[in-house]
Amino acid sequence: MKSDIIIIGGGLLGCATAYQLSKLTDAKITLIERKDIASQATARAACLLTKSRTKLALMQMVQETYNAISELQQIFNDDLGYSQVGSITAVSSIDSHSAIEQLCHVASEFGLETQWLESDEVAAKLPWINADTITKALYVPTDAYIDSALLCNAYANAAKLNGVSIMTRVGVEAILSEANKITGVILSTGERIDAPIIINATGSWVNRLMHPKYGALGTTPVRSHFWISESKPDIFPINQPFAILPDAKAFTRPDVGGLIIGIRESKCISYDSSQWPNDIEDVHFSPDNGWMTLSENAALFEKYYTDIRSLGMAHYVAGPSCYTPDSMFLIGAMETTQGLYVAAGCCGGGVAMSGGIGKLMAEIVLGKECFVDKNLFNPMRFKNIDPYSENFRNQCAEARSNKKGG
Ligand SMILES: Cc1cc2nc3c(=O)[nH]c(=O)nc-3n(C[C@H](O)[C@H](O)[C@H](O)COP(=O)(O)OP(=O)(O)OC[C@H]3O[C@@H](n4cnc5c(N)ncnc54)[C@H](O)[C@@H]3O)c2cc1C
Repeated sequence: MKSDIIIIGGGLLGCATAYQLSKLTDAKITLIERKDIASQATARAACLLTKSRTKLALMQMVQETYNAISELQQIFNDDLGYSQVGSITAVSSIDSHSAIEQLCHVASEFGLETQWLESDEVAAKLPWINADTITKALYVPTDAYIDSALLCNAYANAAKLNGVSIMTRVGVEAILSEANKITGVILSTGERIDAPIIINATGSWVNRLMHPKYGALGTTPVRSHFWISESKPDIFPINQPFAILPDAKAFTRPDVGGLIIGIRESKCISYDSSQWPNDIEDVHFSPDNGWMTLSENAALFEKYYTDIRSLGMAHYVAGPSCYTPDSMFLIGAMETTQGLYVAAGCCGGGVAMSGGIGKLMAEIVLGKECFVDKNLFNPMRFKNIDPYSENFRNQCAEARSNKKGG
């Protein structure tokens, strides 16, 4: 069997890349997914599509996701679980004022509609919050969230309509090359597919097909999680904005009368992906469904919602986000081998960034002019690393612990 381009991985990054590539080329593209489309990290996201970012390039990436979503909604006449509730970034310490002002500055420069809210306006939009504690709040009315699995499947189905072949329940066992040029892959069935271009978009498993033969990628899976509260629609209305609370390292989002609460620990847990099972169903992220973690890390959030410790929790959702030490993604060519590319290191933003990551990957592979500076995401920028070492994993976990945005 032959293909012009093989994409490995049917999560958001692989499927968005397949969709964006299929819009730009008639080349024969094959996407290979070991499990089902959108079955791994992608199925566990909190699904925030936060537009305001500290860097213009990242805002451009998110905008491409919003553009792709409108295209997909039109193609399939389906809203994909999209909900434009807006967002509020609220801070409560003077130390955070310059950061939120900078966020507003970059957003305005990009042309994003923003509004400063008084504390009574915050209280009207978020009835559960202790608004007295908030000293500055930025409202972005056009922010939304979406169903990440529906979005991923829509990328895959639209790619299929454009001619992409999608193989599921078959894995890639090895990437093949000769004289530093990509030649194809070997599948778990033993079959070989010849191709001169391969894009590795295997999320938490990205190093498994690369390291050490093709180089080390500077990313490792780090535990991300959130809790979904019991239903209390009077204080958690379904149309309330999602909230980003940098001083509590937390975010919230409405969810059918309950509240999704995400809290980042001061010391996040990273994993050695060389030991990672093939299915995240087999990873035990927490022995007690996150109860200890919640009770240890609730103190900062308690300032915003006093009743957090007595609030009933209906669900705990945990999964891997692939962080890099500088919190920037890994998108581009592996200089070690001609025809080998990577789209990985989502840094907990793969839903919001998917359209942009897919578009940039497509432009790089096809040698087109890129809509953002591709050097920001050079996948080989971390030199002489062992991605499985404790020291390197700690650097990635720290990047997540220090993350304050949505
Ligand atoms: C709890 C949590 C909350 C999150 N919240 C948000 C959020 O609010 N907003 C946001 O933007 N992002 C969020 N994220 C991040 C987002 O979920 C990820 O960035 C995104 O899903 C990553 O997609 P991916 O394609 O890289 O990985 P995955 O979805 O894991 O896909 C990788 C795929 O590769 C396949 N694969 C691996 N090895 C092989 C092989 N050898 N052969 C064939 N296939 C293979 C796997 O089976 C898998 O399906 C969150 C993540 C978590 C865990």
